[in-house]
Amino acid sequence: MKLNLLDFTYSELEQFCSGLGEAPFRARQLWQWLWQKRERDFGRMTNISKELRERLGQTADVLWPEVVHVQASRDGTTKFLLALADGQHIETVLIPEKDHFTLCLSTQVGCALGCTFCATGRMGLVRNLTMAEILGQILVAREHVAGLTQGQTQGQTQDQTPDQTQELATGQILGQTQGLALRNLVFMGMGEPLLNWENLRRALESLHHPLGLDFSKRRITVSTVGVPGMLSEFGASGLASLAVSLHAPTQDLRARIMPRAARFVLDDLIAELAAYPLQPRQKITIEYVLLGGVNDDLGHARELVRLLNKVKAKVNLIPFHPSSELPYAAPDMNRVLAFENLLKSKGLPATLRKSKGQDISAACGQLRADVAALE
Ligand code: SF4
Repeated sequence: MKLNLLDFTYSELEQFCSGLGEAPFRARQLWQWLWQKRERDFGRMTNISKELRERLGQTADVLWPEVVHVQASRDGTTKFLLALADGQHIETVLIPEKDHFTLCLSTQVGCALGCTFCATGRMGLVRNLTMAEILGQILVAREHVAGLTQGQTQGQTQDQTPDQTQELATGQILGQTQGLALRNLVFMGMGEPLLNWENLRRALESLHHPLGLDFSKRRITVSTVGVPGMLSEFGASGLASLAVSLHAPTQDLRARIMPRAARFVLDDLIAELAAYPLQPRQKITIEYVLLGGVNDDLGHARELVRLLNKVKAKVNLIPFHPSSELPYAAPDMNRVLAFENLLKSKGLPATLRKSKGQDISAACGQLRADVAALE
């Protein structure tokens, strides 16, 4: 079986080139073709000798996840269903913001943690994604964004079939998003990122390479429910910002809605967050999905303030979007606003996040890569 060059870090690519008897600068050229120019065909890597291109073709491949379906939301959010080499599927979501795109990435096929408000959790864990599969989502998204910038009809990219384009962005959305660059990454898609730490760490290191994808650390956020022993390692790496999916202010309530995640006892999680290394003005983002009648009253808000009083935190409130397969209701908007106001009045920074892409099941907790639904 051929090696996928997208699975190599920069130093591994240098070793690979030296194993072929090539000078280190060849790795730099290849890296640029792979990540900056998004080239998959060795034949078109024109500054590399013909002889080396032929040898590369015999031993290696450049394999991206395959786009099998693209859906565009009324709000401009685009969801990609991607097939992996072994036939598994994942989803990744491109979200337009005011002056850039944010990509929400998956790190696992499914998830072992089974949070009760999350469609991915119902799949169970199938497997971890490789570095190539994690970063391949960015290559797909950048190719799509490049297509928008060039004004390709309704955002069609080379991977999309004509009938897929019928579900793509309308001309109006195309106009709104043309010229935006993909600058922010959030690891909040399918899977628990810190349970795939080794591949995530390699992906984050590769992301920062100036001759490659070249993302700033400040523009990358990893969202975790908290994995014992992993927060300090992630913090020490300094590779990205931290967001924690908390969703409940007490151990009992957290154990009810996130039974497996809550095995990391709340007091211990909070103690790790209080000791987490931060830059002077940096804060940890606390994600809190408001489930109607479950965790959304003012008593919960007060408990949350108390719980976080030793943590440098800002809270992101996410009103739950109901779906037929999940046993929760949307919160009342008056309660949501009262919850937000209480946090702010006690000096805890809070923002209300409007979930995007709800009409295409691309909002928080809605990803499930349901291939059967396409048939
Ligand atoms: S919320 Fe995150 S950790 Fe929980 S089941 Fe869903 S993907 Fe897994």
